[in-house]
Amino acid sequence: MMLIVDRSTRQSRIRLSSSRLDLLHAYNRLMLGTSNDYEVFFGNIMKKLGVAEDRQIDFDLESANFRVMFLLARTMFHEFAHAFCMAYVSSSDGIEPWIADNISNEMGYALEKYVLGGCPTPNVVIDHSSMNNEDHAQQKDHAPFGLSFAENWDLWRPESKLELRKSPINQDLTNVVYPLPQRHIHELFGNELWTQKVDRFGSRAVKHPKLQRWKVLQDFQKHWIATAVPRNLLIDTDANPGGHGSAPRSL
Ligand SMILES: [Zn+2]
Repeated sequence: MMLIVDRSTRQSRIRLSSSRLDLLHAYNRLMLGTSNDYEVFFGNIMKKLGVAEDRQIDFDLESANFRVMFLLARTMFHEFAHAFCMAYVSSSDGIEPWIADNISNEMGYALEKYVLGGCPTPNVVIDHSSMNNEDHAQQKDHAPFGLSFAENWDLWRPESKLELRKSPINQDLTNVVYPLPQRHIHELFGNELWTQKVDRFGSRAVKHPKLQRWKVLQDFQKHWIATAVPRNLLIDTDANPGGHGSAPRSL
């Protein structure tokens, strides 16, 4: 890729929240044995959600750290798309262009979908009575319950002046959400993917695998529709009317 910078190229400044970077430092301190503050969140989250002691799980902190690294990289990648757009696309109303058939006007998510095959996000518990805003933010940063990804970014986001979004809303469309296997996240940080698989399979090697058996559909009303998920994990959509686009709670 060649970037041409001339007098018409615009510079933008994008500030990333330091919360995930702070977590990486905290994990480092844990590895060095100088502090165990990284563990505190994981020690409390199950208790906070009211999970009975004999049903609580032990979190694998190394895997959790990989998820944080991935989310940080993905955020930088996402914001780079916006900076690139602002640098080169002249638009008086600030609306971002569509990329190919992606009509979301959100270049960050459009690039994620193009490269990764979907838009990854942490699974979070959103409607538990013990959860306040800070708890939600912490869950998003620590990603204790793994990641999932939707094939499309918020498919039915209403047109909003604030977000400068101009996409048509098509209620007939259904979004598809998949769990993101932890193994794939580890692969993204390994040598084999970049030195061998990308050479052999091209950009397909980087795309998130889509586990058909575990996919969940989401309709326009934001109700989850389980497909091949075992019945004991089916989601009671009535319990969460109008719940907003986070991950399916069965994952
Ligand atoms: Zn964005």
